[in-house]
Amino acid sequence: MEQTQMDTESRLPYDVIVVGAGAAGLMAAGTAARNGRRVLLLEKMDKSGRKVRISGKGRCNVTNARPPEEFAAQVRVNADFLTPAFAEFNNKATIRFFERRGVKLEIERGERVFPKSGKAWDIANALLDYCVENGVRILYNTRVTEILTVGSRVFGVRYMNKRGFTRKEECAQVIVCTGGVSYPGTGSTGDGYTFAADLGHTVVPVRPSLTPLVTSHPQAKFIGRLLLRNVRATLSIDGEPVREEFGELGFSERGIEGAVALRMSREAVDALIDGRSVKLTLDLKPALTPEILRERIRRERAEMGPEEFFAELLRRLVPKALVMPLAEELDIHSKSYMRKITDEQIERLIHVLKGWVFPITDYAPFEYAVVTAGGVSCDEVNPRTMESLKIKGLFFAGEVLDLDANTGGYNLQIAFSTGHLAGMQQQAAQPLL
Ligand SMILES: Cc1cc2nc3c(=O)[nH]c(=O)nc-3n(C[C@H](O)[C@H](O)[C@H](O)COP(=O)(O)OP(=O)(O)OC[C@H]3O[C@@H](n4cnc5c(N)ncnc54)[C@H](O)[C@@H]3O)c2cc1C
Repeated sequence: MEQTQMDTESRLPYDVIVVGAGAAGLMAAGTAARNGRRVLLLEKMDKSGRKVRISGKGRCNVTNARPPEEFAAQVRVNADFLTPAFAEFNNKATIRFFERRGVKLEIERGERVFPKSGKAWDIANALLDYCVENGVRILYNTRVTEILTVGSRVFGVRYMNKRGFTRKEECAQVIVCTGGVSYPGTGSTGDGYTFAADLGHTVVPVRPSLTPLVTSHPQAKFIGRLLLRNVRATLSIDGEPVREEFGELGFSERGIEGAVALRMSREAVDALIDGRSVKLTLDLKPALTPEILRERIRRERAEMGPEEFFAELLRRLVPKALVMPLAEELDIHSKSYMRKITDEQIERLIHVLKGWVFPITDYAPFEYAVVTAGGVSCDEVNPRTMESLKIKGLFFAGEVLDLDANTGGYNLQIAFSTGHLAGMQQQAAQPLL
């Protein structure tokens, strides 16, 4: 009896400290607390889940309903590492989790799952409620500056509180959920990589992924802001086509974006870093063969008067924003009379409509990247627990790991699966000495 009381008194105030209240951190903290652990969640921003709140253009594509094998194919690297975490808390579990918390979900094209309300805030608030209802203590404006260890075992964290004072909190387990370095305004500035490296972990070099592609094409800057639907794009590396995508593609001051370009960016960025040549070929009329397109142009021409301008023909074929750039690309004056347009020029038009080539020379920086590729090497983390293989009691979850996937709800699912698994592992704190 006396012994039990002594043990209780000498127990640390928290069993677990979770660093970062993003998708992974909220899931990890809520899960550990639900399992009876005393959890402290430290978040450097003034609010939880800032990135979740802006995800999916404010609608939050919370997961993807595809079967496991198709899901894994969308994970860029270390899909095998993810398997146990996904088996323990998969996309169906995510759907159940939110629906049980009153967030109605619906499945859209490509099996993407969104809240019916169309509000990412509902997802972020449900995650926060999960923590609050299970008794997680959350401190905002609190930045963790160091993970404390004794030998190869965690014993707490050092942090700077909202008044700017440095404090220390002891615990037996720390879950690092600091995210990557993309969209740093949401709080993810790569602190987790520093913690990991300081503790002897390998950090796979980070680079932007799902990021706009920058083209050197002289016409791109004249296109302005434009979103094209139902286009086909082919990514070529060193002249070899490596990926074909169909769907939405946009132009903006950031570069070529939209789901099609973002999906291609993963390979494009790696190729550019390796110094290889990259180009994107755009088929603006994927539903039409060159023959059918030729016939369509012939019909449009027949309807037009001989004194109408070439620009009018283009206007009938492409969005307004593309008319002048396309005329420039063809080297045909937009105010050329239709009667002067030759068959050879029409053939060139068909050729460009079916395959407009944009050399890709760069990619948008982390500020515009949806996710960060690279991160804490999965080789040094136990996939069945998310615990470091180097430091006992240290866990990683979410984007801080070298895990990233395609657009479509996969990245949040990675955060939920790994966060949940890390949260499941926590044990009541025992005094260290
Ligand atoms: C614009 C945008 C849209 C997206 N849309 C989608 C989508 O619809 N579907 C999808 O699946 N994925 C989407 N993603 C990707 C997805 O949001 C992320 O992969 C996911 O949020 C990563 O979760 P995380 O918890 O690992 O990291 P984060 O969500 O980045 O959370 C990390 C948290 O840690 C905190 N933190 C960092 N350092 C410290 C420190 N030292 N001390 C204390 N706290 C710290 C940060 O402030 C932050 O709150 C989108 C990303 C962006 C940028």
